[in-house]
Amino acid sequence: MEEVKKIKIAVNGGISFGAKLNAKQMITIAKYMNEEDELELTTFQQLYLEIPEDQKDEIIRELEGVGLRCYPVGNYVKSLRTCNFCKGEEAEGMPVAKELNERVAGKDVPFTLKIAYTGCPIGCGEPLINDIGVMKIKDGFNLYAGGKSKGKDAQVGTLLFENLEPHDLYQKVEKLIDLYAANGKKRETVLKFINRFGKDQILEQLSQ
Ligand code: SF4
Repeated sequence: MEEVKKIKIAVNGGISFGAKLNAKQMITIAKYMNEEDELELTTFQQLYLEIPEDQKDEIIRELEGVGLRCYPVGNYVKSLRTCNFCKGEEAEGMPVAKELNERVAGKDVPFTLKIAYTGCPIGCGEPLINDIGVMKIKDGFNLYAGGKSKGKDAQVGTLLFENLEPHDLYQKVEKLIDLYAANGKKRETVLKFINRFGKDQILEQLSQ
């Protein structure tokens, strides 16, 4: 019998309080697994699920129908990693995090891009050690880029803009990703891209 070709997709429960799944979502995911299959949980609040390629669209529709979100795996912008929004949806800017995720997750980039958001300066979502980080402080948003969490040369990202309004934040993040997508070399991280392209040059382009 011909073997069914499978593809890997990343699945999570979308952006809300905590990173949770309900029973219906778990049952729906389990429908597409054999008893011996394993589900991989990534550090980025995503589950990797393998599904038959020829049924991809129907399966994604079914998963999304129970409130799950599905994203491509590979050199794309990851879904937004968030903090747990411990104090409240509005207070910590959950609508802004959702909108940002809608706008950027799944975009094609030279190398997997991790983007993190956090609702206050305590920073539970670790935005400073991701490729792009957003930290809400009072009513404004700080934007960081070029953080690196792994290796002995790990480092925090550079602060690009402070106290942005939501609309400005969306624009600047989208422009930064587009700039990186257009000018980054294959497998070049955001940090290496910033070092090669130049922070001043990036700030200039993002300010236009
Ligand atoms: S970063 Fe702030 S708002 Fe978000 S979970 Fe941590 S303490 Fe709560």
